[in-house]
Amino acid sequence: MPSLYKTPITALAGVGAKRAEQFHKLGVQSVGDLINFYPRAYEDWSSPVKIEDISEEGMVCIKAVLASPISDAMIGGGRILSRGTVYDDTGTLKIVFFNNRYISQMLTYGIEYFFYGKITFDSYGAQLVSPTFAPVSEGTRIHPIYRTTAGLTSKTIANAVKNALKMLPEHIGDPLPEQVRRHFDLCGLRQALCDIHFPKDSAALETARRRLVTEELVVLNLGMRSLREHSRTLTGVRITEDHSAEFEQLLPFELTGAQKRAIADCVADMTEKTAQMNRLVQGDVGAGKTAVAASVCYTVIKNGFQAAFMAPTEILARQHFETFRKLLEGSGVQIELLTGALKESEKKRVRQSIADGTAQLIIGTHALITDKTEFANLGVAVTDEQHRFGVAQRAKLLSKGDNPHLLVMSATPIPRTLGLIIFGDLDISVIDELPPNRKPVRTVLRGGKDREGVFRFIREEIANGRQAYIVCPLVEEGELDNVASAQEYAAELMLSQFRDIPVGIVHGQLKPDEKEAEMNRFANNETKLLVATTVIEVGVDVPNASVMMIENAERFGLSQLHQLRGRVGRGGAQSYCVLISDHYSKATRQRLEVLCRTNDGFKIADEDLKMRGPGDFFGERQHGLPQLAIADFADTKSLDLSQKIADYILFIYKDLRSDDLRLLNAEIDRLFDRGGRNTLN
Ligand code: ADP
Ligand code: MG
Repeated sequence: MPSLYKTPITALAGVGAKRAEQFHKLGVQSVGDLINFYPRAYEDWSSPVKIEDISEEGMVCIKAVLASPISDAMIGGGRILSRGTVYDDTGTLKIVFFNNRYISQMLTYGIEYFFYGKITFDSYGAQLVSPTFAPVSEGTRIHPIYRTTAGLTSKTIANAVKNALKMLPEHIGDPLPEQVRRHFDLCGLRQALCDIHFPKDSAALETARRRLVTEELVVLNLGMRSLREHSRTLTGVRITEDHSAEFEQLLPFELTGAQKRAIADCVADMTEKTAQMNRLVQGDVGAGKTAVAASVCYTVIKNGFQAAFMAPTEILARQHFETFRKLLEGSGVQIELLTGALKESEKKRVRQSIADGTAQLIIGTHALITDKTEFANLGVAVTDEQHRFGVAQRAKLLSKGDNPHLLVMSATPIPRTLGLIIFGDLDISVIDELPPNRKPVRTVLRGGKDREGVFRFIREEIANGRQAYIVCPLVEEGELDNVASAQEYAAELMLSQFRDIPVGIVHGQLKPDEKEAEMNRFANNETKLLVATTVIEVGVDVPNASVMMIENAERFGLSQLHQLRGRVGRGGAQSYCVLISDHYSKATRQRLEVLCRTNDGFKIADEDLKMRGPGDFFGERQHGLPQLAIADFADTKSLDLSQKIADYILFIYKDLRSDDLRLLNAEIDRLFDRGGRNTLN
């Protein structure tokens, strides 16, 4: 029998060329694809309500008998209105359907059905509008709802799936070996595939879902692990001496234990192995990642190689340059800045010094590696705050030297299990300790009516010599509600409360050099108040700024708010973050109050993941992970379980290439290459 993945969808009864085209729009080409096209939701018909208990509008399920044949009537515009009455042992109810000329043939009077649909009220009382239905005798209580496309209803898809499942052979190969399933109490693939579409009750659905979710995450987990092994290449950058102790002498402070551990991890990577370092250093805002990166650069330089340090923005690059220059004064390290804003002649001089090897530490933007810049002997590339290199960028980087080491710094706190998957091809060091004597930012939640008071507070802080940020969410095009747009907002402030105070404004529509100039004015304390959209998220370090007010705070994810808040509390003064929200729903308040309670980025990330899913960690950014069919990155429990199972599998079978894991491997290939599920044959 040919694989169901090679069997076109037209092999199913009732699916012709036109239908097939509609299925293709949903990404379903073959019978196998259809079996893997899982419902997006379910209607639960297991506890129908009694007709006499229907008292308000909303979705209901009833179990009732059709009292008489459905009658069709033509209404305006050639449309059909179909009406009927149903009853149970407590009363009768009207049902109506619009524009479905087959309804009268599909429903038979005297038969008992489940009806599921929306109750509305008119002057004659309650009616059930366009319900879905099935005879009670069919026995199913939980009905699948599928993602649909024009002309293709969920019901049609369900019928096609029913036929597809009939084509499943009695015995199908299972990517999860029996021993693994038994040990972790997971059902077989065949049962899971049938029950995910048509479960007999909610317990059966849960069993099926658990099995499929777990399998998908195990596959992802193992796939990322093998990717990690393969992403290691031999490096020509041989580091033999550890100079981190010497570097520490240059610092004006003691490194924290966590910083020391991260540095030691990097040094071990570079000195003990022949493969290149691929490490992510993760630490909350203000954890002191820069010092870690600087130490690693120092060791590499003292071993005779160059180090490139990349920042996401020009202004951040310039700031790092100034910091490093002061730090390395008298150390003999030759340091240069290379950004697009430099004069051509200066750029040329810097490029020359990079090419001939006189420049040892080069700070710049990402243009540093994508440009025509030639390195004499690049030993390590560090990227700051830019979450990670894409595959293409990494290849580019590797070609800049003899497979130089790579260090990625990230302030995005990610729960460990998720991190293992998302950054599966990187080793991770976590800086889980802040430098001593930090004053945590005080965070409060206020309503719009308190705005005047907050403005007064900002004025006081500015009068005391400090600076402040006001952050407005980006306005999406066509959005007509009262979300403050940065530009109008700033204009209004400058004309009223802050008339006598220099106000700056940055938003997405500014050209890079305009933005840069505006940020510089704020950094130089020329403007006292900066009105901004999220562009300041990975922005400057202005220790003198002590207040941040965030408008429409409910529009941001918690992690994003936490990152924003990290822009204050960088100096000696007590700093404040005021979240403004007019959304009084309990859920919104609870969410925002998490920020008022804690400054721990990891706790916040955990909450965020629970409430919003992982998209928020990455914003619009591609995280480069394969598209999941059923699992959910926010499901930490399943992530943890899959981690355990993956460990167990590697322990039992030793090697992913073991013959017992042939089908599992096929699934890994499928997930990463987007091939078909190979086990359905
Ligand atoms: P981030 O992790 O957000 O990049 P930075 O590296 O910018 O944090 O460090 C934030 C501030 O803390 C800097 O001013 C830095 O000089 C200071 N800092 C870093 N490490 C320590 C330490 N161990 N003790 C005291 N201050 C430190
Ligand atoms: Mg930093």
